[in-house]
Amino acid sequence: MFNKRTRVKELLQQEPAGQEVTVMGWVRTFRNNQFIALNDGSTNNNIQVVLELGQFADELLKRITTSASLRVKGTIQASLGKGQKMDLKASELEILGDCDAEKYPLQPKKHSLEFLREIAHLRFRTNTFGSVFRIRHSLAFAVHKFFHEKGFVYMHTPIITASDAEGAGEMFRVTSLPFDNPPRTEEGQIDFKKDFFGKSTNLTVSGQLEGELGATAFGEIYTFGPTFRAENSNTARHLAEFWMIEPEMAFCDLEDNMNLAEEFIKYLIGFAMENNREDLEFLSQRLAEEEKQLPQDKRSELGLIEKLEFVLNNEFQRLTYTEAIEILRESNHNKKKKFQYEITGWGMDLQSEHERYLVEKHFKKPVILSNYPKEIKAFYMRQNEDGKTVAAMDILAPGIGEIVGGSQREERLDKLTERMKEMHIPEEELWWYLDTRRFGTVPHAGFGLGFERMVQFVTGMANIRDVIAFPRTPGSAEF
Ligand code: ATP
Ligand code: MN
Repeated sequence: MFNKRTRVKELLQQEPAGQEVTVMGWVRTFRNNQFIALNDGSTNNNIQVVLELGQFADELLKRITTSASLRVKGTIQASLGKGQKMDLKASELEILGDCDAEKYPLQPKKHSLEFLREIAHLRFRTNTFGSVFRIRHSLAFAVHKFFHEKGFVYMHTPIITASDAEGAGEMFRVTSLPFDNPPRTEEGQIDFKKDFFGKSTNLTVSGQLEGELGATAFGEIYTFGPTFRAENSNTARHLAEFWMIEPEMAFCDLEDNMNLAEEFIKYLIGFAMENNREDLEFLSQRLAEEEKQLPQDKRSELGLIEKLEFVLNNEFQRLTYTEAIEILRESNHNKKKKFQYEITGWGMDLQSEHERYLVEKHFKKPVILSNYPKEIKAFYMRQNEDGKTVAAMDILAPGIGEIVGGSQREERLDKLTERMKEMHIPEEELWWYLDTRRFGTVPHAGFGLGFERMVQFVTGMANIRDVIAFPRTPGSAEF
């Protein structure tokens, strides 16, 4: 049996008492032909392997280069050196895979995040990405734990769909028709009846509509899967392929929805604080170092961990869209004409600079905005009594902007179809969706949380490309 090894993370929690262990990992550094810092990805901390002078042949020592992979057997002893509590005194050392130092692009020095994106296949071997992706794993696990413990059913909604859930974004088309000579109708249009599914299909932009079908049978469901948007936005918060969590709850109104979303976000943060302390401390330190380069007024008031603690211990600020417009209109920022997009008044769609002003400058904490004008929101949102607004809610987070979008859904068939007519959404295509309103309709609500934006918030990473393993963005699908 080959895989009889101790993980470095577990090893470092033990007391050094001469125990014999085998570790395997990749070399971070090798100094004085004697000390190897070996990392196996379970933690950013390395185990220091100590070789005795003359113990191994020079030929072997030459092959111990950065990122070569090793198997080391030896005994654990208290370290004589500073900086680590134990050493692994090697008795056997085997090189599993050589690494040509001349060709290996990662050196034991600080690389820019931009450069690391170009070698995303290797960047997991850095401390920063080690921490980010262990936290990402933890958060994904916590998503399932949270909903499972609440009795929600995990539902896998389709990736290929024929419906555009909400006009949420531009879609990627899925087709098996030939590009050079697609079949055409008599009118000369591409004939999607001849396509694989007998109709035009695309990659899903949201699992919500199917999620509602589940919620109106199970009571509560959630989805957690990839979503795709062909929007050409080259920002630090948009991906063409991202993961979304979408709970959908029957017997639930807008306020219940907000309560669940706030509880959920806090749960995820709390889970990472408890289970990823070491990685959070590393990232916190990293962020603090980075901010030292910024002018005083651009630095954050709170460190990463303090920020997370603050969010955990304070209620999100709740206000209506209408109140938000008033705050923005009355702000000095607006009066001094500092917004790039003018505050034109009630009815306008909020730009991310407006959202960030509310969160970062005005309230200095997460904000839940609700009851938006119906004109700027999707057809399925429940219409309020005022005839002007819908029961929508967005959660805005400091440094990120929108992290959650949700609503109470319109459960009244007549109101729903009326709105669909106004918005030119063909009823025939959504017959199955409308059936839920025909057969035992119930008040229900749900939201979508962008998983990468959540990972960004917890890790403090400024660019969304650095919290997903292999980002898909306009012009880029390497790896
Ligand atoms: P934005 O205005 O930021 O583009 P949106 O209004 O299009 O977001 P929704 O359609 O409500 O967003 O999607 C729900 C959630 O999914 C958002 O709150 C956000 O967290 C996330 N999200 C949306 N688009 C993207 C994207 N392109 N990349 C990563 N996450 C996204
Ligand atoms: Mn969008």
